Amino acid sequence: MKFVADLHIHTISSGHAYSTVMENARAAADKGLEMIGITDHGPAMPGGPHAYHFSNMKVIPKTLFGVEILQGVEANIIDRAGNLDLEDERLACLDIVLAGLHHVCSPNGSITENTEMLINAIKNPWVDVIVHPGNPEFLIDAEAVVQAAAKYDVAVELNNSSLKVSRKGSSPYCEKILCLAKQYGAKIIVGSDSHFAPAIGDFSQAIELLKKCEISPSTVLNTSIAGIRSHLQRRTNRRGRYR
Ligand SMILES: [Zn+2]
Ligand SMILES: [Zn+2]
Repeated sequence: MKFVADLHIHTISSGHAYSTVMENARAAADKGLEMIGITDHGPAMPGGPHAYHFSNMKVIPKTLFGVEILQGVEANIIDRAGNLDLEDERLACLDIVLAGLHHVCSPNGSITENTEMLINAIKNPWVDVIVHPGNPEFLIDAEAVVQAAAKYDVAVELNNSSLKVSRKGSSPYCEKILCLAKQYGAKIIVGSDSHFAPAIGDFSQAIELLKKCEISPSTVLNTSIAGIRSHLQRRTNRRGRYR
């Protein structure tokens, strides 16, 4: 499987990541990627950027070192209603919105409560990707979440970092989610979740799991720029009231 993009990347603005936009773009170019998403954590993350960070991303060139740069966020789901830590007006102006549960920002609850929280975020029209849903820290009804992702056309992420350095014990949950995504026709996206530039485009653990689950490249969003553009087209379609 050949990947053309990595759309889950952090910079020093996240407060606990160690590379700049320039360093990340350079690393992506060196790895032959065509597109990256700069997706720092939302403002609710301790040490994370102020909301202004996201409105001012327009100063970043659309292309650096030949790599297309998407302006994005990894928004925090901050309550059981699935609300995010960035207002719709700001989400609307970005190129890509990832959303996920993080233990410092999201209320952990029962399987039913966590499932409802994640599905409520999936229903947010500005959310394009649900990140690391296989995190064993937040137990969910994976079948219900994947069905909702398919219904609302939100991609489910296979997070390489979850299989390598963070969120220990994710692998069996990720495997289950991949199988369900295949079954229900939900889109999959692979993200490095890089917090230091050399990790960009490192999908090695994810590739093993994709092989094991016999996932076809055609269902993995970041194997095709056209596929990514078509997934993100809905943003342009919905933006009317904000731009
Ligand atoms: Zn995350
Ligand atoms: Zn991340």
